[in-house]
Amino acid sequence: MLNPCSIWDRLDTVPEVGDGRTAALLTALTCEDNAPFAVRHFRPLPGEIAGRLSIDTQSSSAAGPSGTVERGFDVDQTNRSVVVGERVVVKWLTPPAPFPQPAPDVFAHLTSAGFTATATPYASVSRRGADGTEVLVALVTAYLPEARDGWEWCVDEAAAGRTGFAADLGVLAAGLHAAMATPSPTFPDPVRHAVPVPAPAKGSWWLRADEALREALALTGGEDGDWLAERSGALRAGLAPLAAPAGAGAETAGTPLIRVHGDLHVGQVLRWRDGYAVIDFDGNPTVTGADPFQPAARDLAQLTTSLEHVGQVAIRRRDAPGPMIAEWAATARAVLQEAYLERLTALGHAALLDRSLLGAFEIEQECRELVYAARHLPRWRYAPMGVLRSQYP
Ligand code: ADP
Ligand code: MG
Ligand code: MG
Repeated sequence: MLNPCSIWDRLDTVPEVGDGRTAALLTALTCEDNAPFAVRHFRPLPGEIAGRLSIDTQSSSAAGPSGTVERGFDVDQTNRSVVVGERVVVKWLTPPAPFPQPAPDVFAHLTSAGFTATATPYASVSRRGADGTEVLVALVTAYLPEARDGWEWCVDEAAAGRTGFAADLGVLAAGLHAAMATPSPTFPDPVRHAVPVPAPAKGSWWLRADEALREALALTGGEDGDWLAERSGALRAGLAPLAAPAGAGAETAGTPLIRVHGDLHVGQVLRWRDGYAVIDFDGNPTVTGADPFQPAARDLAQLTTSLEHVGQVAIRRRDAPGPMIAEWAATARAVLQEAYLERLTALGHAALLDRSLLGAFEIEQECRELVYAARHLPRWRYAPMGVLRSQYP
């Protein structure tokens, strides 16, 4: 019989789908000595999969055990997610990511805050180096049957001209933010307040956005680059609200800050058999070293503008007519923001939203999309360019 705890010696490389190491990891989560690995538990694995795993371990088959077949996902992903036995997803970080990493603490927090509109978190696995550094190796969550991400389901909504879903998105985002603002043993003090800093100060919101704009201008060539350069003054003017966190009394009270999702776009919202779920709490892969405490408006702006991207995708891939999509996007964004604020208010957290920041954060996000396209995915450029061209005719 294979010793389940021996898997820790076989994790020198990121497992391949089907090599049996992902299923083996699940059986090893409860081993007593995992050094140099460390396991954090959030919720117990469902009994059914735990039972199947223990039978498979006893049949001593390391790869492709009977009841716990591994498979991958056929979608664009940054990391390598493996489904085990159609019940559990193990997301192997490629490569393992140096701490600080938000996901494990956020999982612990959301679990105690009772936020359930996500893939139930089971465990996180990290590895400690001899030099005391720690890297995040894997995240273990529930598999959500029949899940499709927003780059699929929301494009269907756009092509059909439906906007009712946007209210569900608003409710989901408000629930997440309210949960983030609720104290837990992990985050006893979850809400902070912005301290006004002079606009060009290092790390200020304005500087971060201005740098994204400069980078987008530098990296976007051709006709798009010329068009952008002509609008750079207008775009920069749109960032002005970030220079002084505004709103009544903000200079004294400061804009409330919470741990935001950090990469909240429709692709992170799964529509699955039982509803919607927001996933992927790794933060924004295009921003390094961002303060985990941000205005809620940053997430809401990113989610809103991702609806505009969905619209561009529908035009390009579904032949949806431009004017129809313009109307769809305008309605969907309004419905989303209204439902968000209504729910946030109902949950007693209306103060979390500083609306004056939304427009500027949206511009910053479009710049980030352009930078991302230039660096990693040139064929994506049409989406942010389409949005900007429609907003700055
Ligand atoms: P990445 O950081 O690589 O983007 P995500 O956590 O966003 O990873 O997952 C990538 C994709 O895998 C998702 O868009 C979704 O299609 C699928 N997926 C991830 N987690 C689950 C889950 N728990 N259940 C079903 N599908 C999932
Ligand atoms: Mg991610
Ligand atoms: Mg993702």
